[in-house]
Amino acid sequence: MDFNQRITEWYRINKRDLPWRKTRNPYFIWVSEIILQQTRIGQGLDYYLRFVDTFPDVSALAKASEQQVLEVWKGLGYYSRARNMHFTAQQVIEDFEGVFPSTFDTLISLKGIGQYTAAAIASICSGVPEPVVDGNVVRVFSRIFGFESPVGSTKIFKDVREKSKSFITDSDPGTYNQAVMEFGALFCKPKNPQCETCIFKDECYAFKNNRVEKLPLPKTDKPKRDRWMNYLVVVTPQGLLMQQRGIKDIWANLWEFPLLESDRLITVDEAIQWIDDERLLPDGTEIVKFEKDFQHILTHQRIFARFFIARTKQEVVLQDSVHRRVIHKDLIQELPVSRLIDKFIAESSLND
Ligand code: SF4
Repeated sequence: MDFNQRITEWYRINKRDLPWRKTRNPYFIWVSEIILQQTRIGQGLDYYLRFVDTFPDVSALAKASEQQVLEVWKGLGYYSRARNMHFTAQQVIEDFEGVFPSTFDTLISLKGIGQYTAAAIASICSGVPEPVVDGNVVRVFSRIFGFESPVGSTKIFKDVREKSKSFITDSDPGTYNQAVMEFGALFCKPKNPQCETCIFKDECYAFKNNRVEKLPLPKTDKPKRDRWMNYLVVVTPQGLLMQQRGIKDIWANLWEFPLLESDRLITVDEAIQWIDDERLLPDGTEIVKFEKDFQHILTHQRIFARFFIARTKQEVVLQDSVHRRVIHKDLIQELPVSRLIDKFIAESSLND
């Protein structure tokens, strides 16, 4: 069967009308690909429009501060992607005279650009016949061609890439790549694929062998690391005490409340002891109370978080005014914070 021809024909008829499909500018394609990694199109579209409106070209992105980039990114999660984009934009200005590269080998040498993103940009913008391999492509190929290795394994990546490489040609490889991804996203979906009306129904291995629900084989997960984070939400007459995280851990450079990480969640008495030991608050702190617990799951970690609220009528004197701030509750939304802190602010009694 002429797989390429059939799937690109399907794509021409069924594709969604999206702004990054009307351009071959590698900067716009890059922004869209990074935003759409692990983000639904509906949510990603708003972020894409806001991002390219704020930073219309690579030079505007390079000139912005990291905080400005994180603010536009706020809420999307995976902040290291935003940081990598900022770094890469500066590298493009310095090493490529501001011209965003569009060849596969150069793209893959840039920070935050892996095989998938390099293949997408190079095929769409420069006509390089390099197949993309993402979750949608793995699902479509595993089902149609009967690949039985787990998602995330080297074997499935190699099998899918090699098979797709045998179909991709010099004639509009970008459209072919997008067609396979779109077919997976809209038609050969993880749940309830539309097999009865599918153009590949007669050849599809999974359909013919009753393996549609089983393929692709699920990832074999590594156990997650557990962490216990005790937060102290300090309410002062001027606002809430916030501090910025360091760069060597999750949520690098994001803002949060003073934190005590330990091997378990602590009690109110232990929180009071912590405040005394660390001299976190001025004398006159009136109330320290338990507020809320959350469990927050990241890719490789499970976070158990407990929030205490401490109220004081005294002004807090900041020893470090770069990485610590007292900020009015209503302005916290302007600081880049993790999803955990966002969730706490939305659900806490601070809003009562
Ligand atoms: S027949 Fe079903 S499983 Fe096979 S490609 Fe079509 S939609 Fe996917």
